[in-house]
Amino acid sequence: MELIFTGRGAAFNPKEGNTNAYFIESDRLFLVDCGETMFGYLMLEGVLNKIKEIYAIISHTHSDHCGSLGSIGLYCQFVLKSKLKIVVPHNHEYERDICTLMRIFGNTEDAYEIMYEEELDNKFEAFDSVRYDLTKHDFNMTCYSFIFETKNGAIFYSADTRVVDNLVNFTETHKTIDRIYMEVTNVKIPGDVHLYVDDLLTVIDDTIKDKIYLMHIRNNECMEKVIDEGFKVVNLVSIKK
Ligand SMILES: [Zn+2]
Ligand SMILES: [Zn+2]
Repeated sequence: MELIFTGRGAAFNPKEGNTNAYFIESDRLFLVDCGETMFGYLMLEGVLNKIKEIYAIISHTHSDHCGSLGSIGLYCQFVLKSKLKIVVPHNHEYERDICTLMRIFGNTEDAYEIMYEEELDNKFEAFDSVRYDLTKHDFNMTCYSFIFETKNGAIFYSADTRVVDNLVNFTETHKTIDRIYMEVTNVKIPGDVHLYVDDLLTVIDDTIKDKIYLMHIRNNECMEKVIDEGFKVVNLVSIKK
């Protein structure tokens, strides 16, 4: 599964755009988060040109991860005429929050529908399944990482997190690992909601490090530090012709 990143920045790093990604399979667009900068990117880069259906998984409701949901829902209703499919875990409160957000964004059930994660099993070539994996990020918010099982091995996508626990559990429970997309920050602040890069270094060996692609980069210094530490950072690709 090749994820295309539309951004790789933290919330206050607009230069790098919101850390969001997607892939396209025939006329279906699959979004991994869709923050404030996502809708503009999709329109301006022509990503939506041949798309008939849109699916989205949403790690948490910070707006750099879900701020475009409203516009995408309305685009699905009025342009594509096929409802946005928002894929959620079996967490009633989280599902309700997403539905509340959509209502506030002016989206009705004509714009979107809720699907549960297992309803996607074997529905795409890119992955066999995707599961929400509860993580710790904002102290007052429900936040998830994602685990994809694919034919080339498993993929871990941390989204925003302040802990290494999900990653450690992932590496311990998966023999074949394809890729790991991991957020980090370069400053250690007590009570921070992001993962300090040195805390990541303490739990990985070189084999794992080789599979890690960093994202949600705070600023230029953060980018320089993680590259100095020998990490790869996700690439941004412009597809505009
Ligand atoms: Zn974020
Ligand atoms: Zn966040």
